[in-house]
This record gives sequence, structure tokens and C-alpha cells, in this order.
Amino acid sequence: MTDSLTDGNDPALRSWVASANDPASEFPIQNLPFGRFRRSEGEPWRIGVAIGDQVLDIEAAGLLPHGDMKRLLRVSPYERRVLRRQMLDGLQEGSTERGKFEPALLPQSQVQLGLPCDIGDYTDFYVGIHHATAVGKQFRPDSPLLPNYKWVPIGYHGRASTINASGASFHRPKGQTKAPDAAQPALNPSARLDFELELGIFIGRPNVQGQPVTIEEAEDHVFGLALFNDWSARDLQAWEYQPLGPFLSKNFASTVSPWMVTLEALAPFRKPWSRAEGEPDPLPYLDSEANRAGGAFDIQLEVWLQTAQMARAGHAGDCISRSNFADAAYWTVAQLVAHHTVNGCSLQSGDLFGSGTLSGPRPEQAGSLLELSQGGKQRIELSSGEQRTFLQDGDTVILRGFCERPGYRRIGFGECRGTVLPAYITHG
Ligand code: CA
Repeated sequence: MTDSLTDGNDPALRSWVASANDPASEFPIQNLPFGRFRRSEGEPWRIGVAIGDQVLDIEAAGLLPHGDMKRLLRVSPYERRVLRRQMLDGLQEGSTERGKFEPALLPQSQVQLGLPCDIGDYTDFYVGIHHATAVGKQFRPDSPLLPNYKWVPIGYHGRASTINASGASFHRPKGQTKAPDAAQPALNPSARLDFELELGIFIGRPNVQGQPVTIEEAEDHVFGLALFNDWSARDLQAWEYQPLGPFLSKNFASTVSPWMVTLEALAPFRKPWSRAEGEPDPLPYLDSEANRAGGAFDIQLEVWLQTAQMARAGHAGDCISRSNFADAAYWTVAQLVAHHTVNGCSLQSGDLFGSGTLSGPRPEQAGSLLELSQGGKQRIELSSGEQRTFLQDGDTVILRGFCERPGYRRIGFGECRGTVLPAYITHG
């Protein structure tokens, strides 16, 4: 898994971009995540790499002969590591290429950050076993997990058209809801609007239909990870989800953070993956030595809630939950790719997987309000004196993620931010 090109994680590396050396920066030279930016509305998106508080236009820096993210996503892991090496060389303190790179830098505060790429197909998994157990308990107290959960990485096909860039707001969805004591459903704005704390997994290299990706090759098809909020309307979901699963309760909006953090940057934060005593071993196509040795990622996650009242007062919001990808997930990224393609399904560059809600093992580590409020029964107290069970109009949810380990530079994911607007006023 390591060769001479995968370094760049050495904490001693420093950049001539001064802000990248600030220990608080999410984007030190060891990170170098990819995204898209533009200087103004109407300009085409350009490929950028975050470094400190700047974005490096890698086409302008002479590192790519094109500005086409689709083409970049398709490159081999080897080619991507060569590009990483070129960026490391150019951005490193004392680099002779500084004169070439410096004019290609722009302050992040002066550009618009978009979706990291044009998203093709979107699949949402359900790897958060603590989430699946907690939600299952609300419906089936005696057997919260369905019998397939520990064998099949559960997922459904979602919709890419309504995935928003971070910062975008969206209208509260309307849909059919039915109160348990009502004779029939009605069309209403959702009264139980929720967030879901997830990671997004961006597919880089495609596979040919009919040719499954083995678990050994799976990570070669992953370009990077980002933060992902799968906004959910729980009241719509409860009425519509049987027998085919979520539909309009999920596809009105999702939000993804601007930067794809590469597996090269995440290398120091790998963890062994194992099954606890008494848990079934995965079927062989979901098992490999490398996956057991380091298939999991130690990524710390946070959910922040800023109400409209807090925003007016200049208050950044409250951190209402903290969890960790490695503690929350029953399956690894490699297992998801291997499972998704085992039937011959082809993945395309720019496809996005949602991990599923990444709740930690303890109740206060839940990645949704459905869990934090125990299905709406328990009010959450905020520092502003306000309370919440589900989201209200004007609420902003901010997801954050970062990796920390002694002896390594901290790397961050940036933020995934979205605001709830009132429902559209329409007929009906
Ligand atoms: Ca989800």
C-alpha cells in the first residue's frame, strides 16, 4: 500500500503558503484535497486544491493540461500520486517552483466553492450500526436489526439532481403524511425535518458493466471522501417507506462539502477493521487482508446547529453531536465498492455513495435528530435558550470532520453547511 509516492504525510513538511503551517488549518500541505471553484457566478468551474486559506488552480499552475474534473477522476491511483507529488514539490517551503505556483493561488474567501464534481448516480448506504439499531428500536424494540444487516451492506439508489453544494439553502419539503389516528393522509410541509451525519465517497475510476471490482482493487476506484448531509423528512418517510424504502422523504435535498480528501492524505489515519467476538465474518468477496489491516478510517465528525436567532446574534451555533467514522461504521469503504459491483453493476467517475448516518455508540453521539430527540419525545436544549426536536425554518446545520493522530499533522474536511427555508407556498 505504500511506495515512494505515497509519502507527503510527514508532519515536518512545511509550505511557503504561510496559512498552511498554522496548526489550526484544516488544509496543511499534507492534505491537498480536490474541489471546484469559480471567481464569479456564470464562470465555468475550475479544479482547485485547498492549501491553507488559499485555493490552488492546478491547471493555471501547469499541473494539468485541462480543467476537466471528470478526466481527473478517471486517472489511475499511480497518476494521482504523481500529481500529489508535483503539488507537494511545488508548495513545499524552499520550492524552486514557487514563482510558477504563486500566481495560481486565490484566497478561498474570494471564490465560490461548488460541488466537487458533477455527480452521476448517487447511492445511499446504511453502514452506521448504532444508527440502524437505535432507529430499529423505535419500530421493533425486540429485534432492532433486520437479519440481513450483518451480511449485506444495505443501500438504496438515491437521486443526484438535488445534491447541493455547501452553503446552499433549500425549502422545507412538502409531502404526504398520515397521523396514526387520521383516516387518511394529507399533503403538508414536513413537521419532522432532520439531518443525517454521513460521509460521501466519490468514485474515481469506473468499472465495466459485468466486471465486479474485487475488494483488493476497490480503493483504486475511490477518489476521495467528503462530508455529506442526507436531509430527511421523517414524517414523509414513515408513511411512504414500505415496501420499497425511502423515496420523497430523502430526495428533496442533500448537501456535500466542497473538498474530496484523498485516500493518500488519509493514509496515516487508517485503522484495522475487525468484527467483534460473536459477529459473523463477512463473505469472502467482502473480506481481504488489507481491509482487515487498515480498511477503516479514523475520522472525527461533528454536527453543529445554528438557529436563525443565533445567526442574528452572530453566534456560531452549538455542537450537538460528535462521533467517529471508524466507531460508527459496520462496513468499510472498500466493502461498499466491492458489494455495489458484485452483481456486475458499473460505477462511473463522479458517482457518489453516502455512508449512512454515522452515529457513535453512545446516545449523545447520534447523527440525527430522530435519535437525539428519541423520535421527537425528548427536547434538545440549546445554549440560546431555544429547544429543538426537529429542524425549524431558518436553522443551519453544519457538519465538520477532521483527522488527528499524535505524530501527524491534523487534516480537515472543511464544512458541509445548509439552511432550511420555509416550505414553498403553493396550491394544495
Ligand atoms: Ca441516509
